[in-house]
Order: sequence, then C-alpha cells, then structure tokens
Amino acid sequence: MSLASIETNAAVMRQLRDSVGKDRISHAYLFAGPPEIRGRVGLEFAKAILCETSRDDACDVCTICKKVEHGNHEDVLDVQKSGNTIRKDEILNIIDRLSFKPYGGRSVVIVDDADTMTIAAQNKLLKTLEEPPGRSVILLLAERKDALLPTVLSRCVQFQLRDDPHLDADTAAIGRQLVDPRQKGQPFYLRAEAIAPHISDRDLCLEVLDAAQDDLRKQLFEAVDRAQYAHVPLIRTAVARIEQARRSLQAGYNVGYTMKHLCLLIDKRETTEETVWRRL
Ligand SMILES: [Zn+2]
Repeated sequence: MSLASIETNAAVMRQLRDSVGKDRISHAYLFAGPPEIRGRVGLEFAKAILCETSRDDACDVCTICKKVEHGNHEDVLDVQKSGNTIRKDEILNIIDRLSFKPYGGRSVVIVDDADTMTIAAQNKLLKTLEEPPGRSVILLLAERKDALLPTVLSRCVQFQLRDDPHLDADTAAIGRQLVDPRQKGQPFYLRAEAIAPHISDRDLCLEVLDAAQDDLRKQLFEAVDRAQYAHVPLIRTAVARIEQARRSLQAGYNVGYTMKHLCLLIDKRETTEETVWRRL
C-alpha cells in the first residue's frame, strides 16, 4: 500500500504526502483514531518518509518499502505496550536506539498505543519529542489524544483519523450546506437533518464548522466583488455564530444542542440585543 491508496482521511493523506514531497517532515506526529487506520497510516507514512524511489509517497516495491512493511527495516523502531502500559524503560530504550546513527537517512520510531504511556514515560519522552537526534521522526499512534499530557501533544503535529469513508467525505459538504445561501429561509430542521448523523462526534462537528467558515469567507469575497453590500452583515453574523458554536464545543457543551442551536440561528438576522452587545 501507500498513503495515496488509503481511501479514508483524504485531506490528511494529501498533507502527509505534501510534507514528504517538499521534505518538510516534522520530527513528531500524533495520529489519533481507531487501531487499524492509525496503524496503517503510521506504517505507510514511515515507508513514504524512508522510500528513496517515490518522491512523495511509498513506492511499495523497493527493498526499503518491503522491509518497513514486514517490520524488519533497521531504521524503524516499533514500540508496543507491554501489558497495559508503555513504561519509562521502553522510552529509555528508544532514546538509546536513537543515539546510534541510522543506516539510511533517518530513523523512524512508531509508538502504538502511545496513550498508554505512563506519566513518567511521557515525561521522559518530552525532550526527545522536541529535539530528536539527527533527522529522526517519532510517530505516536493513539486511540485518544486526551490521555496524553498537554506538553506531549503540543510537541506533535496532530491528526485525527477516522475509519469511515462516509464521515470523511462529508464534513466539507455538510459545512457548505449549513451556510448555503440558497437555503436561506428553509426550516431549520432541514439543516439539522443534514447534521443529525454526526452530532455524536465533537471533532467532526468542529471540522464542519471549519468548512462552513471557509465557505462564508468565499461568500464574503463574492458579495464584495459584486457590490452586494447588503449581504455582508448577514455573512458576518453567520461567522460570529459559528465562532460561538466553536467556543461552546470546545468548552464541552452538548454537541447535539450546540449544532441544532446553530442551525436554528445561522441565517437569522442579528437581534437588537446582539447589535447592542457588538457596539459596546
Ligand atoms: Zn519504496
């Protein structure tokens, strides 16, 4: 396989290939998501980083790609949990291994179940995450991000992965639908219906909001281009309401309630109260 042949998480795959192609690979990544997809992405990314045949992906036929695939490449260190956790000793082992020069251009460390690292293990890893020796790359794979220390998270380029291609493709479309000007005046439940299957997933709703906001930005430029200035305050109000919904989601408010509330208000004019607040 290769990054390009992974059918889900297309935007993430594009971004990873882009960073390999431009040789702008960071030294630490976190891939959060279900076991199969995070394992696959970790492995394909390691291949893409080390493969010398393909420019921005794994060629999947060279010796390097084959060795990584079969788990016997000298420069790839695979760390698994022992029992229920990954202990400090394992991390010391990684640090020790990374102190040796790689056979090829770089070493790649893949830590699966990184969210089972003990606090001591995570603390031990901090310095290496920040400045891994040489051009080494550390890939943390985890079910959930929130079991990791903020200091670990902040040192990684983070990606949330999904194993359902439908959810993956939908966020941009749902976001556009949410703010589609042709829907103006439609009963709110039609918008709410589009979002309904996804309101159990906070991260996904945050992506929908990103997509909606991107679309509003385009609408704003178009309105100004066409001198449709009357539309501008409505678009600004919609942006403000999306921002409000984002803050609510980030603050841990109920996802379903927040998104339905947004659907209800998104194309309503600013209330007098809001206008007053904005002027204050
Ligand atoms: Zn290859």
